[in-house]
Amino acid sequence: MNNLRLRRSIGIVITEQHVDFFKSNTRESLLLKMNNKKIVELLQDFNGSTTVDEICERYQLDATQLESLLTYLHKEHILIQQDANYPTELIQNKIRLVNLLEDYCHSTSEVIKAINKLSLKKVMIIGLGAVGSFVAVQLAQLGVGNLIFVDKDKVDESNLHRQYYFEDNIGKLKTEVLKNEISKINPCCNIEIIHSYLNLDFFDNHDIPIDIDLIINCADEPSVDATSKIVSEYAMRACIPHIVGGGYNLHLTLIGQTIIPYKTACFECFNIFLKKINDFENKNIKKLHRENRKLGSFSPLSGIASNLASLDAFKVLIEKTDKLQQTNKRIEFNTGTNNFTVMQVERSKECKWCGNNVE
Ligand SMILES: [Zn+2]
Repeated sequence: MNNLRLRRSIGIVITEQHVDFFKSNTRESLLLKMNNKKIVELLQDFNGSTTVDEICERYQLDATQLESLLTYLHKEHILIQQDANYPTELIQNKIRLVNLLEDYCHSTSEVIKAINKLSLKKVMIIGLGAVGSFVAVQLAQLGVGNLIFVDKDKVDESNLHRQYYFEDNIGKLKTEVLKNEISKINPCCNIEIIHSYLNLDFFDNHDIPIDIDLIINCADEPSVDATSKIVSEYAMRACIPHIVGGGYNLHLTLIGQTIIPYKTACFECFNIFLKKINDFENKNIKKLHRENRKLGSFSPLSGIASNLASLDAFKVLIEKTDKLQQTNKRIEFNTGTNNFTVMQVERSKECKWCGNNVE
């Protein structure tokens, strides 16, 4: 338990008999009954290089007692183990990312590993529109090392109000434009391009790399539902985590679910859940089918979907899947009420894709 350091995100408040550790990142509080007046001084002495023996000697403490306190504070993400030094480049250029990652990790070597993981991972982004173009930019900013862009569209003037493109990009391929823009943000990011729309034969007709770590579907033609089915069918077969991109829909932003094959509810499990709701709600109702309505959409709301997809992508890529916010959930943001509506969706034994594995 040597080389411990108090995390930067921790605030400490002392009262007569308690010490309150406040985690400013998660707004959680850890209240410990303790009346050692020197506890703050003592914890601040944990700067990453002091040993438990040194502290015991300095404060005349029993080593066993102190060790059990430190083990607890380490487990509770109050203290981090400084078992590796950050490279200077990392401190100079990515200190905020490092500080954020410290809240996910128990040691500085784990933080360095997470950053290396990001640089080695490969993510396929399908559809580079209002959600996909911003997801691509955010993943490049996070330091994701390998991206595959799938799209065939050219930039149109009507894209500029909600997608990551500029006036002088009009008429050029979205994939090429975005590749060029990303080289200015993260020159280390390798980008492969597949010039294609997502159709039923897409995965059969193209050489799909076998080392993809994550697929994010942001294609919405003819509908998010249709494209997500194609992506999910392939990703379940190949056992690749995938995120069903969301979008703006009648003043609701649908936050697409994140799927870890055979561990969380899959696309088909969601369909079973939604069918039960729709069958009940739409009994005796005849649906009026209307083609290509071009429903309202604008960047603040597609931004919510892209930001949340990027956040879950980050957690998948650093392999902290226990922290994912949109697995087993159908989430909608309602711009009228400013509320997120969350419906819990569990894996279904009836699911023809993953039902056999449900315990
Ligand atoms: Zn399923």
